[in-house]
Amino acid sequence: MKKDHPLTRRRALIAGAAVLGAAGAAGTARFLTAEPATKPVRSLPPVSGPQARRALRPSAYRLEPMAGYGPPRHTPVRTVVRHEPFLRMSGRGRTMVLTFDDGPDPHYTPSILRTLRKYDVRAMFFVCGEMALENKGLLGEMADDGHIVGNHTWTHPLLTKLSRSAIHSEIERTCEVIDDAYGEPPVWFRAPYGAWNRATFQIGAELGMEPLAWTVDSLDWTTPGTGTITDRVESGAAPGVVILSHDAGGDRSQTVRALRDYLPQLLDSGYHITVPRRKFT
Ligand SMILES: [Zn+2]
Repeated sequence: MKKDHPLTRRRALIAGAAVLGAAGAAGTARFLTAEPATKPVRSLPPVSGPQARRALRPSAYRLEPMAGYGPPRHTPVRTVVRHEPFLRMSGRGRTMVLTFDDGPDPHYTPSILRTLRKYDVRAMFFVCGEMALENKGLLGEMADDGHIVGNHTWTHPLLTKLSRSAIHSEIERTCEVIDDAYGEPPVWFRAPYGAWNRATFQIGAELGMEPLAWTVDSLDWTTPGTGTITDRVESGAAPGVVILSHDAGGDRSQTVRALRDYLPQLLDSGYHITVPRRKFT
């Protein structure tokens, strides 16, 4: 996306890494729990509580013509205000989470979805509202395949430089378009560049989302070569690791090819690629 000026982005990443490092050093990194290993079942009986909001709806519901993206159809369930994002996932066994940010992009996201489908694997997509608005069908495919769609703001700004009302607008509009195209509002939020502040945690919680960062950055956006991306993911592989990649924001053909390489290798190594279940504490 045009918004990622390289220098700005690099500085922001460094700032974000420092924040995340500090959280880890303080021993306060939060953990996620894994979803059950089974594929999501569409006909789950209604259950009470937040998990009920994850039930998927038929595509037809999402594909109805909409006048704009309208008011939210679901009232968000306010969550606890965190002081740092989740960085990794807890749970038994060799579980990992793959996340793809900044999309959806019609050039790359469909290929990623095909690869995930081929291996019957669920992942997370942190989408930008302006991209989601142009590619609603891809959010529908994500819902159909059981992927989790999270909120990555509307235009991918550095939120720490924005007013509180601007942050709220960036995040809330994105919740609305996700609700429309995916069929339910997001329950996960990721700040662009990993740049979090008190307002982002408060507003995310107010809108019903938990903050998720990552454990391993594949740095795929620097286009280091397919092999390097694959090596970074495989050398970073460990139980509970959350991998960061990007399906938009530039030429992501290396990201697409790397996934085809490392996904079967992770699975052969005994990793279970899954998506987090939101844990309320
Ligand atoms: Zn991003």
